[in-house]
Amino acid sequence: MCELVCKRCGGKDSVKSGIVRGHQRYRCKSCGCHFTATKRCGKPHMMRVLTLLLYGMGNMSYRMIARLLGVSHVSVYAWIKAEAKKIPEPKIPADIDVLNLDEMWHFLKKEPKTVGTPSV
Ligand SMILES: [Zn+2]
Repeated sequence: MCELVCKRCGGKDSVKSGIVRGHQRYRCKSCGCHFTATKRCGKPHMMRVLTLLLYGMGNMSYRMIARLLGVSHVSVYAWIKAEAKKIPEPKIPADIDVLNLDEMWHFLKKEPKTVGTPSV
């Protein structure tokens, strides 16, 4: 028989706490989490890690990653969003007040000085 381990904290002390959907439910003595002795649902952790690598380093789209792994693109989006929430906000140096980037500056620079249609 496999040993009961809390799915939240990994604690080994638990007591029986009723039956849910035909499975024995247990309550962890250390964190109070209720759990059953069933295997975890969801995709493997390594699939999520691979998703992050493909998105971050491979510069792939959600849909392309979803096609490769055989999952929904919404799942890929949710995994990346969940991991992104764990990352702290970037710190902006104090000496920079406001930085405006105008992506059209090179077009404006090349624009001819005359106004209207060019004469032929
Ligand atoms: Zn626990």
